[in-house]
Amino acid sequence: MTTRREFLGTTTGALAGLAFVGCDLLAAAPVRAQTRRREVVVSGRRVKTVDVHAHCAVAEAMALVGMTLGAPAPPTRPELSMVTHVSERLRAMDEQGIDVEALSINPYWYKTERDLARQICQIQNSKLGEACAAHPDRFVAFATVALQYPDLAAEQLEDGVKKYGLRGAGIGGSVNGEEISDPKFDPFWAKAEQLGVLVFIHPQGSGVASEIPKRLKGNGLLGNIIGNPLETTIALSHLIFDGTLDKFPGLKICGAHGGGYLPSYAARSDLGCSTQPTQCPGGPHGPIKKKPTEYLKQMYYDTMVFTPEGLRHLAAEVGVSRLMIGTDFPYPWTKTAVDHVLGTPGLSDADRVAILGGNAVKLLGIKT
Ligand SMILES: [Zn+2]
Repeated sequence: MTTRREFLGTTTGALAGLAFVGCDLLAAAPVRAQTRRREVVVSGRRVKTVDVHAHCAVAEAMALVGMTLGAPAPPTRPELSMVTHVSERLRAMDEQGIDVEALSINPYWYKTERDLARQICQIQNSKLGEACAAHPDRFVAFATVALQYPDLAAEQLEDGVKKYGLRGAGIGGSVNGEEISDPKFDPFWAKAEQLGVLVFIHPQGSGVASEIPKRLKGNGLLGNIIGNPLETTIALSHLIFDGTLDKFPGLKICGAHGGGYLPSYAARSDLGCSTQPTQCPGGPHGPIKKKPTEYLKQMYYDTMVFTPEGLRHLAAEVGVSRLMIGTDFPYPWTKTAVDHVLGTPGLSDADRVAILGGNAVKLLGIKT
């Protein structure tokens, strides 16, 4: 079974002392993955496929805030209750034709005080580095940073990249109710730009869903299915309209879940200020320098839009060179991220190679 999940409570003996789960990457695999790896080939050429949206967690760091990996988790962080052995994870990757995962950890430490936040991220980044070193052909990772302390976050990003070989940072779409475009976060953006690394922005259940909880209650998981992409939509819009992308033009930003709703309704962003200019006095860095949709074309996105038509439209709005596959492992949203790209009409073979892995290989410095 590739999707089997165990709760730590029932497997305490087997997993006790393990540092890494959600990924559990450092555990010795009891049985090596038996599945033959699906090798993705496009026009006769083997493609190294890269999944930029894959979650994990580090139990040792979670313990510092009293959380137990595998125990019932907050509704906003269900992946923390999912424990998948590394052999299962590799098997799932093999079956789905994913060669490399770029691992990220969803922030749960944005409300902790400075020293604790420093410690949590230090442990996580060190373990992520170890895990990637243990499986160098299968995993790269994004550093975790204490973004509520932007100067510390900048330091942690630099350490993560230089000391632990991490390939960028994973951050939330907001920080304790503050927009990531707030100038207070500039030290972090400046460092990300200086290092030239990718910043993967993933919504947090504590973002939009906690700001408008009443509207998102009820049947249908609205806090997730609407709240999460909405959080990304808002975050990316602020980076555009508040001038963050003008101030740091070299930033490499990747929006999760296809950038949320933003690329679906991009033209409206261009018309707002011309329709009601008084509502556009300029952000903290002054008026923006380009048409909003031009900024969309300088960011990156995963392909988690599920349908060929969704992917066709996303590519038309932002460009093929901006797209990378995403699975959201261990959430079972999709097992067909590769086939989604292969089966989308209108893409050339070169487009498919770029989306499946070419773009990510370049951005994340993955060896081919
Ligand atoms: Zn996710």
